Amino acid sequence: MQFKDVLGQKALKNLLIREVQEDRISHAKLFLGKLGYGGFPMAMAFVQYLFCTNRTAEDSCGVCPSCQKISQMQHPDLHFAFPTVQALAQKSDLQFSEFKTMISEQPFSNLNDWIQHSDPKSGRRPIISVHQSQDILQKLSLKSFEGGYKVSIIWKADEMNEQCANKLLKIIEEPAPKTLFILLVEELESIMPTILSRTQIQHLKPLNDIDLTPLLVQNGITDGELQKSILARSEGDANVAKDLCLGGVRNNQNRSDFIQLMRSCYKKDVLPMMDWAEKMSSYGKEEQKNFMFYALYMIRQSLMKNYTNEQLMKTSHEEADFLKNFARFITNNNVMDFTDLFSKSHYYLERNAHARLLFTNISFEVMRYIHRA
Ligand SMILES: [Zn+2]
Repeated sequence: MQFKDVLGQKALKNLLIREVQEDRISHAKLFLGKLGYGGFPMAMAFVQYLFCTNRTAEDSCGVCPSCQKISQMQHPDLHFAFPTVQALAQKSDLQFSEFKTMISEQPFSNLNDWIQHSDPKSGRRPIISVHQSQDILQKLSLKSFEGGYKVSIIWKADEMNEQCANKLLKIIEEPAPKTLFILLVEELESIMPTILSRTQIQHLKPLNDIDLTPLLVQNGITDGELQKSILARSEGDANVAKDLCLGGVRNNQNRSDFIQLMRSCYKKDVLPMMDWAEKMSSYGKEEQKNFMFYALYMIRQSLMKNYTNEQLMKTSHEEADFLKNFARFITNNNVMDFTDLFSKSHYYLERNAHARLLFTNISFEVMRYIHRA
């Protein structure tokens, strides 16, 4: 991965390049931001720049043996740690090939994607345990193979448990020379203060529309109105954007399903509500999940319309048309309920909820909430 292939994040790129050039690299870095903002590609581009034997003022060369080994995730001095379901594997190495497959296909993957890849049947929560930090300590205590830095990238370090963090703290406090940690973290609150105080925090920003548009085009979304709608819903997260592109053809369907739900619930028409639930439960799971994101987006846009004089509203024309009359039904009295309902439903779908019950429940809850506006 070269810097030129990392989407956006210009300021951070420049900062990292300067650190390498001036040889003042802090030994523990924390990249903060959603994984969909590109923390992993950024970490890879940085390490590749650091290891490149022929780097320029702007980027790694991409062709020297070091660059090649890094881009294939096969450099002996670069190690990866990530959460694992402990019943399946206590250490990341045991699932490295699955991880590599996922992250090579989609560098913006997040924890949910990883759960789908590594434990699709049971969906248990993976963690980074003390076994993994022990493994990191051992690896970093070895002499570097190629005489330079030894690097450990800890993906989704949010999932380190306390024992793991305590063990890691020792080496972060007293690092061996030329060791480098890069922690990819989504929520600062999940990291122990003792670790935080010893890391250099570097922020990844939500990607802007200009950064993300080429990704949309790559994924077959060329229609301007649809692009606008997807960009608005992605909130700068490339992982979400890519999912939405896959569901791009669903956009019109999502809109009409959403409108149908709101209209029948507003009129308290129970039979059409039941028909709606029946129809929704016949869709595939990905389509159902996609609808939840869409519903959350429409609720948020309604709020934007009401409270910001439409300034922060980002929708397609067709959506704006519907929101003209609908938005007033989303107020402070029900917005939290709506948000909660659709996020929880998404969560339950991931955990194989009974679809017909779930959609029936949604229609009744929506009927209650909408009349509370
Ligand atoms: Zn190179």
